[in-house]
Amino acid sequence: MESQATSSVPVHEREVESDESTPKPTSKFSDEPPTKRKKNSNLEDRLSHILSCNVCFDLPSSACYQCCRGHLMCAACYNHLLADSKLKDEQPTCPSCRVDIGHGSCTRNLTAEKTISELPVVCVYCCGSFARHMIKGHQTEDCADRLVKCRFETFGCSWSGPYHESTNHESTCVHPKKSGTELLECLDNREEKHKKQLSVFRQSVSLLSCEQISFSDIQLRPFRTMDFVTRLYYESNRFHALGHTWAVKAFIDNVEKHPSNPTVIADRQLNYQLLLKSKVSNDLELYSLLVRAPFEETHIDPEPVFHRFTTSETESELRPISVADANRLLGSRVINLRLFLFYNKP
Ligand SMILES: [Zn+2]
Ligand SMILES: [Zn+2]
Ligand SMILES: [Zn+2]
Ligand SMILES: [Zn+2]
Repeated sequence: MESQATSSVPVHEREVESDESTPKPTSKFSDEPPTKRKKNSNLEDRLSHILSCNVCFDLPSSACYQCCRGHLMCAACYNHLLADSKLKDEQPTCPSCRVDIGHGSCTRNLTAEKTISELPVVCVYCCGSFARHMIKGHQTEDCADRLVKCRFETFGCSWSGPYHESTNHESTCVHPKKSGTELLECLDNREEKHKKQLSVFRQSVSLLSCEQISFSDIQLRPFRTMDFVTRLYYESNRFHALGHTWAVKAFIDNVEKHPSNPTVIADRQLNYQLLLKSKVSNDLELYSLLVRAPFEETHIDPEPVFHRFTTSETESELRPISVADANRLLGSRVINLRLFLFYNKP
């Protein structure tokens, strides 16, 4: 996949240095002082710029750390830097000033965290502007345009739509008038779904008994291929786990329809594959499990995936990442995930 990676461009202009094994995003702005660049923007933009993470350039959504010289890093990037240095057996340093960082020398910046929580953000449903600390409550409970399901969903109704239309729909919904026999079918489907969830849960728990378990906090960054039809994909830095080097790549389904703006696709699905970057002399069989990264809010339905790598087959099949809010995930500059690998020596 190296050849594809080198012919690709990063989606966001402001990106960070990655290790040389992954496509290196370039920034035409990176050496300009922030004040020069943001001269004409409003106060909100200037504050966002000052308070954004020095690594991923997103506004930290939860904990915000700073080096002893005051450079800000979001919790995900901070943890990633520490984990990365540990793997390379190096002292972690601040990406802005190179001063040593670590749990003893970095502190939370509560003023930055509180200021960020007051900055406005747009509701994905009604496009209204709300303070960040209020947006979750607004989008889940208050917004008249928020997406809701019919309250007779259990009876088999698949309607979903804006909250302000739900009363109207529910008054005319035919599902509560179903016969017992028809309802039984719906309940059977429900039970089938629960059984599947239980089996995934049991499988995940049984994997905890594997001989070797590793977890890595990975950051997927967006890139576009320079092919005739541009394709958006995500790729992580290389990481070491279970004595091998790996990377994760992810693609969005149906992206060809709107290659320049994947967020307009309603039924998008993120699929990932595991890439084995080191040579193996024997077949390698293991399970992976992708879960939410620390401090991330995106809900993922974890499902263990079996992979088999051989001397010639070093890329696993694409498997779906089951996220509740793909919008939010794809909207952020980097996707933070925690990847577990489970391995039993044959
Ligand atoms: Zn960050
Ligand atoms: Zn610094
Ligand atoms: Zn709203
Ligand atoms: Zn209904």
